[in-house]
Amino acid sequence: MTTPDDLPRAADVVVVGAGVVGAATASALAARGARVVVLDKEPGPAREGSGRAQGSLRVQGRHPAELPLAVEALRLWRQAVAEDPDAADAELETRGNVYLATRADEPDRLRALAEQARAVGLDAVRWVGADEVRALLPAATGPVLGAMVSPYDAQAQPDAATRVWVRRAARLGARFVYGSKVTAVRTAGGRVTGVRTADADVEADRVVVAAGAWAAHLLAGAGVRLPLMPVVLSEVETAPLPPLLGPTVRAAGFGARQRPDGRLVVSAGLGARVTRRASLADLHGLRFWLPRAAAFRAHLQLRVDGRQVLRELRRGRALDPALVPDMSPEPFCDRASLDAALRALAEVFPAAAGAVTQRSWGGVVDLSPDGLPVVDGRCGADGLVVVAGLNGHGLAVAPALGEAAADLTLDRPPGHDLSPFALARFAGRVPSPEVMI
Ligand SMILES: Cc1cc2nc3c(=O)[nH]c(=O)nc-3n(C[C@H](O)[C@H](O)[C@H](O)COP(=O)(O)OP(=O)(O)OC[C@H]3O[C@@H](n4cnc5c(N)ncnc54)[C@H](O)[C@@H]3O)c2cc1C
Repeated sequence: MTTPDDLPRAADVVVVGAGVVGAATASALAARGARVVVLDKEPGPAREGSGRAQGSLRVQGRHPAELPLAVEALRLWRQAVAEDPDAADAELETRGNVYLATRADEPDRLRALAEQARAVGLDAVRWVGADEVRALLPAATGPVLGAMVSPYDAQAQPDAATRVWVRRAARLGARFVYGSKVTAVRTAGGRVTGVRTADADVEADRVVVAAGAWAAHLLAGAGVRLPLMPVVLSEVETAPLPPLLGPTVRAAGFGARQRPDGRLVVSAGLGARVTRRASLADLHGLRFWLPRAAAFRAHLQLRVDGRQVLRELRRGRALDPALVPDMSPEPFCDRASLDAALRALAEVFPAAAGAVTQRSWGGVVDLSPDGLPVVDGRCGADGLVVVAGLNGHGLAVAPALGEAAADLTLDRPPGHDLSPFALARFAGRVPSPEVMI
């Protein structure tokens, strides 16, 4: 592992962020022959969003613009794990996904989503009635109306799965430096010239910002305004239970998967409540966030982050690279919402009642105004590429985003239509997503 003391002083491409997106991008860049340096402020990879995910590699229920990426990403996940002799702890398994309808307004929407999936070639995605749900999930003896079922979806252990991409990138020659916060993307004459860190500058004429929830701060220093709303989502892991779930399950009130050793990983699922530690930064992009906050007020817990407000006041700005912490604090964990999720799970799966909590945690999700990511190589200085705004489901698509970002960085045609993900879309009116997260 390279430490900040022997930070490389030059590279073809610097990637900021060793989450799953940065690692997958580095892997794709290195596979194309680029000399890559990945910098992360934390002491290791996947310490932020990527290590805190539930681990559902979900194709279903996505916006149609993301579906081709999600399908490709699953193929890339399988390939990367198959090529890595140390990937057993990634627990990658293709066990499908069941999107349960438990309320009268859901079946029509799920039928429409199944249609959309079939339209892009996912022929086996279908709507099934309650009897078939029970055949698929015998433990689901509580009230269900039916489900959208997909055999394609997979699941994985997020931190270990991210390390699969770190190892792949490293095998291909990428260098990872931890404990190295990027404090500026340097530019001259409209071109990227590298990055500044607390220790030294690294010269590069291409920089990929894959900085998750902190991307807006770093980009503000490079003159790019990225409307992101970081919110905290919580997860709980139980002690092992006998087999209850094969596929991952998503429903109003809970989302769950069962690890190979029987532990359940549970979140609040569709319509989860998220927590926003508000500060002056929230005044940016209010035209996007106010209507969303009003529409989803039952799903949003607002707290004022007094310390951050003070920092912003001292800095004289609410978005600035200097406001990125050297190491991120542990996010708030919403135990009340997790208890409600465990109760909702036990209504449908009574055998999960009384499951013992082993650990719980919060993780920051980078919401974008329309629920779609930003993948853009033309939004700032030449040579700057942004991949952010993964909206709480980026683990699944990251490998395909990494390939796309690598092509954008090296001025090659990306294999997908990335126009729905251009930053410029936020100049106009953007539709709000149907769910908070
Ligand atoms: C609770 C929770 C549950 C989730 N469940 C799922 C799920 O089941 N399925 C799914 O597909 N997705 C899920 N997600 C979303 C998924 O985890 C994210 O979309 C994905 O991990 C984002 O990856 P990333 O690499 O963009 O960001 P991150 O993993 O956050 O990585 C960004 C990295 O950039 C670094 N960084 C930031 N600023 C700087 C700087 N200035 N200098 C150096 N380094 C910097 C950070 O330290 C961090 O390591 C979940 C997220 C959460 C929080």
